[in-house]
Amino acid sequence: MEKSQIQEVVENQRTFFQKQATKSLSFRKAILRKLADVLQSCEQELSEAIHADFHKSAFDTYTTEFALLYSDIHETLKELDNWARPKRVRTNLMNLPGKSTIYRDPYGVCFVIGAWNYPFQLTLAPAIAALAAGNTVIIKASELPSQSAKALAKIINSNFDPCVLHVLEGGGDVTQAVINAKMDYIFFTGSVRVGRIIYEAAAKHLTPVTLELGGKSPAIIEESADIKTTVKRLAWGKFLNAGQTCIAPDYVYVHRTIYSQFLAELIKQIETNAYSLANGNYVQIINTHHFNRLKELIETDKVHYGGGLDEENRMISPTILTNVSWNDSVMQEEIFGPILPVLVYDQLDEVISTIQSQPKPLSLYLFTRKSSSKKRILNELSFGGGAINDTIMHITNSNLPFGGVGNSGIGSYHGEAGFKTFTHEKSVFEKPLWGEPSIKFPPYSSNKLKWIKRLLKFNASF
Ligand code: NAD
Repeated sequence: MEKSQIQEVVENQRTFFQKQATKSLSFRKAILRKLADVLQSCEQELSEAIHADFHKSAFDTYTTEFALLYSDIHETLKELDNWARPKRVRTNLMNLPGKSTIYRDPYGVCFVIGAWNYPFQLTLAPAIAALAAGNTVIIKASELPSQSAKALAKIINSNFDPCVLHVLEGGGDVTQAVINAKMDYIFFTGSVRVGRIIYEAAAKHLTPVTLELGGKSPAIIEESADIKTTVKRLAWGKFLNAGQTCIAPDYVYVHRTIYSQFLAELIKQIETNAYSLANGNYVQIINTHHFNRLKELIETDKVHYGGGLDEENRMISPTILTNVSWNDSVMQEEIFGPILPVLVYDQLDEVISTIQSQPKPLSLYLFTRKSSSKKRILNELSFGGGAINDTIMHITNSNLPFGGVGNSGIGSYHGEAGFKTFTHEKSVFEKPLWGEPSIKFPPYSSNKLKWIKRLLKFNASF
């Protein structure tokens, strides 16, 4: 795509935003309703595109893509008036008489950059929040799932005014060109490596950013855990989308006393789930590059179960690795595939100090019946979000802001958190034309200083 075409899309959105049309709540709601209609009527076409890229079943595509988007639109339409309403706050004594209000102001032209693993949800969920907030939106979907990227661009671009919502196809060069055209807000989902590039490029224009990144998300399984329920929820979260989920449990720490029982149950569960491309319970690895990267992470002498590789279909069977150490390559990078290293521990202290020594995870999962362990983990470890006795499901509650911390990201979204992300808090103090104390104005005197100290008295109870 030519730089001049990108420039044109950006300029047209900027001009449109400045016309103020996106500010009205009725305009925003109409766009969201239209998006819901378009998605519903094109669900089949979009679903087929995902199938072409991942061999993913209609069931999985519905639950991990469309259901989340419909729920976002539904909730946003229901709550938007409330979220957007200016909020009156208390005025401090010194400023009385007067009133203080926070207005939620859209930024302008927003740029949403998506990762490849959930091509629609990761681009459209932030777009829904940005549009609800009164912005215009340019989306750059990942180029890796090529059929999905093409279908998304076709469907959005043929149904929406490019001045309000537009999808650009392409790779990093397109992303860089858009950022250089000076965005008002950048929302990036992807790797830590590219996140750094985006952050640096945004800094040139002081463009505010949200970075939704990845990393190694641990699951800790205590001896008190209910093994059957734990394994069911863990296997589901790990092998969903063949492990290509940013919040999938990356590795597991299991207490030594339940280690053998856990492994036996996990194998049973994997077999019950009958993961295969043919029956729609499983998906392909996105491309040969990632297939080969994952293949390299499987050290054959550490395979406890699985390890099956089908190069032609880019399929890796659910794989359990044991006797793994932090020096192994599988523990040195985010796995992002269906390989589960299982580590053993004796004391929770060891697990806590190891996780503390690693970059802050995007998610953390603890399986336990002990409230003291829950308390310790929540108190002593920093992570984006997570679940106790479950995996993944926290992402489906839009009342929980979703995002990382440290290396796993900056900022959050979903529900009202998304609306807040895409608006600036414009704080305004409004003063009537009367009631001005003369003490504020020069000339100053020791008498005025005495009175100002009395008036602004901060008593000793800081
Ligand atoms: P990626 O960083 O390679 O690519 C993300 C986007 O950046 C793509 O649209 C790509 O075209 C663009 N890009 C790539 N190189 C670029 C460059 N040099 N300059 C500008 N833009 C560039 O990530 P990915 O491989 O698509 O996704 C996998 C990663 O995303 C994993 O780390 C995963 O954990 C993370 N992820 C995070 C979340 C979350 O919500 N936190 C969700 C999904 C995926």
